[in-house]
Order: sequence, then C-alpha cells, then structure tokens
Amino acid sequence: MTDTIVVTTHPISQERRVVTAIPGPQSLALHARRTAVVASGVSSALPVYVERAHGAIVVDVDGNQFIDLGAGIGVMTIGHTDEAVIAAAAAQLELVTHAMFTITGYESYVRVAELLAQHTPGDFAKKSVLLNSGAEAVENAVKIARKYTGRPGVAVLDHAYHGRTNLTMAMTFKAMPYKSGFGPFASDVHHAPNSYPFRDGLSGADAAKRTITYLEKSVGASDLACLVAEPIQGEGGFVVPADGYLAALQDWCTANGVVFIADEIQSGMARTGRWYASEHFGVVPDIVLTAKGIAGGLPIAAVTGRAEIMDASHAGGLGGTFAGNPVAAAAAIAVFGEIERRNLLAEAGRIEGVLKPALHALQLKYPIIGDVRGIGAMIAIELVQPATLEPNAAAVSAITAFAAQHGVLLLSAGTFGNVIRFLPSLAISDSLLSEALGVLDEAFASL
Ligand SMILES: *Cc1c(COP(=O)(O)O)cnc(C)c1O
Repeated sequence: MTDTIVVTTHPISQERRVVTAIPGPQSLALHARRTAVVASGVSSALPVYVERAHGAIVVDVDGNQFIDLGAGIGVMTIGHTDEAVIAAAAAQLELVTHAMFTITGYESYVRVAELLAQHTPGDFAKKSVLLNSGAEAVENAVKIARKYTGRPGVAVLDHAYHGRTNLTMAMTFKAMPYKSGFGPFASDVHHAPNSYPFRDGLSGADAAKRTITYLEKSVGASDLACLVAEPIQGEGGFVVPADGYLAALQDWCTANGVVFIADEIQSGMARTGRWYASEHFGVVPDIVLTAKGIAGGLPIAAVTGRAEIMDASHAGGLGGTFAGNPVAAAAAIAVFGEIERRNLLAEAGRIEGVLKPALHALQLKYPIIGDVRGIGAMIAIELVQPATLEPNAAAVSAITAFAAQHGVLLLSAGTFGNVIRFLPSLAISDSLLSEALGVLDEAFASL
C-alpha cells in the first residue's frame, strides 16, 4: 500500500463484478492494519475497503464492483463522485478552504441558506444555521427551541435515531450499540410511543392520541420546548407513520406552543421524491434538519426554521469552527442544482416503482417478509418468523452477507435488527436495481 492517491481517468462501468472472495486479499490486509490502530468501537459492517466509486457502483481495493444499495447510509443521493459536485468543490478548494463564517463570511454559506429557505416546507420567512453533522444539527435545533420557548423539555418518539453525542444519545431509542455504558445522559428528554403500523395496527388518529396522552400526562405540554420526529424513521427501520399521525402531532404542538422539529437528516433532500418527506404527510415543521444527502458526501448539516424561532438565539450563541465549511457548502449548492437540473425528484418515484412490486412479489414467495414499506428511494422490508411479528434478525444477517458475497451492498436497520433498507442513489439504473433484486431473491432462496 502506498499513500499516493491514484486519480483514474477511466470511468467506472456501472456493472457488478466479483473477482475475488469477499473480502479479497487487499481488503483483508487493510483490515488487519485497521484492527491494530482503529478503536474497536468503530465497527465494520463488512471488512471491504473502498478504492473508488461512481454513480451506484463502489469498487473495492481488490477490484470487486458492488451495486451500492446503501449509498453510505443515504448520503450519496445524487450518486458517487458526481461530476458537478467534484467541479464545485474543486473550484472552491482553489479559492478558500476555511474562513470561519462567524469571523468573516463567504457567499457559499449564504447561498446554501437561501436554497434551504426555498426548498424546505412552508411559505414563510426562514433562516438557517449550518453545522458539520446531523447530530450537531439536532443539538442546535434543541438549543434554539429551548431559547425560543424558555422551556426545558424535549420529546422524541420510540425507535427514533438522532445521533451519538451526549444529548442525541439521550434522544436516540436503541441502547445497543448507541448508548450502553455511555451515560449519564442529558436530562429532560422524553420518549413517547410512535406510530408503527406493522407492529401496533393503530390508525394515525389513535396512535397520535396515544403519543399525545403520554406527553400530556407524563411531561405536561407547558414544560416542552420541542417535539422532534423523523417523518420516516431511518435507523429505526424505515417506519412510515399511519395516515394523519404526523399532522395530528403538529396540530397539538402548534396549539400548545411546542416547536415541531422534523429530523429529515435521512429522509430529506429528494430521497423520497419530494425535497422533504414531511411534504408526503401534509406537515409543515417549524424547524427542519438536513444533513446526509445535502452535499454529495462532504460534511455539512443545517437547521432551517421559522425566522422568529431561529432568531431567538443571542449573537454568538450558534456556530462552530468548521461549521458551514466553504468547500462543503459549494458541494451542497451543486447538489441542489443537480436535483433541479436532472429532475431527480422523479427518479425516486421510478426507483419505488421498481423496488416495491419486486419486493411484494418476493413477499409472496418468502413468508418471512412480514412488511414492505417506504416511499421513493427509501424502502424497507421487515423480516419476521412467518405469520408472526417475531423479529428475524438472523435472516437479515444471512441475507446481507450473501448479498455482499455476490456484489450487492445492502444495509440492515431496525430496533430489532430485522429490517433490510434500500436507499440507493437516485442515479441507479433500473437494470442495476433488477440485478440486485435477483441477488436478493437468491439470498432468500439460500436460507
Ligand atoms: C444519521 C442521522 C442522524 C445523525 O447524523 P450524523 O451526521 O451521523 O451525526 C440524526 N438523525 C437521523 C434521522 C439520521 O439518520
């Protein structure tokens, strides 16, 4: 191994190709080096090391080409090494790479805030603060809601995922691996029941009543600064709430002076065929959080909300050294531009149109597929013991392992580890999707 970066001029063919055992010898060698020096807490879903990637294909150091159905957990929404993103970031690199926006400003930060104001739900004056990561966006949204309302309490939903910092660990549902042994956690965070139609069978109205009753009785609306909800839960297993659930929560928040925050870090930025998934549910959040898909893999995140809420913080209360970095901001501007120019919102619907019918057909064949759900390019299957709700995590592990052996990167999810999620790049072709679905069929057959 050398430390030289080899820039290839050959475009990566959009095809699956397995040329060694998975992981191959070069990956195994890198894995041994990693094991010696990288903390064990940083886990590795698959000990395969990536050399380059383009579109929906990832190439490992052994020359294997994988169809990427995870897109780095929904980050590479417009595709790996997108030319427009590379060009924008490269041009910015030559101009200025860091200025610290709270000392001296620069246009790309302002432009990203303008684009967010334009594309997030709601026809009112909006303002943004840019940060480095999703968790940091969640933290800042809570800070802002507390300052605006003068109240301490934070409400979240069961099965939520909001990050790994101290406050966001407290807000995340699942103990293992996210929280176990890492406490004590931030206080005044309240976990309320969510809407999980496959498991609770409740209508949106009944599920909302359950959530609201819990919050009113256990916390009291007057102590709540905000309710933070993912319109479609990400790590929790792509749980799509029942019709009317989110709208009922928002109405209750509005009636009680509670700031309604949509964590769209995974579901936003065109992933579901709308700019933000909130739009599918007829909700207009007071604050929306953006991160994963916003900048083609460069680290940047945003809190965008009603101007009067966002302006509640005193000057100097929000910021961060690298927050809103000019190179990442330039990449984000390119991503907004490409989604418009290539009409990528429509691509999410195309992907759903391929995945959903194929997964329903697999469900008829394999009764361990208990549920097929999701919207756009955010689709999942939940695996159970046939005809029960008993989670089947073992099958998920076996299927994702089989897929990797056959050149398909598949991600698991879910509180019970029994969900397979599909969140490919919007650049993936129908034929690559079909090919990956063929491998999935073989994976089920092999069980
Ligand atoms: C990934 C994610 C986060 C955390 O983002 P990081 O950039 O990993 O800190 C928060 N909320 C949701 C819904 C996410 O999917």
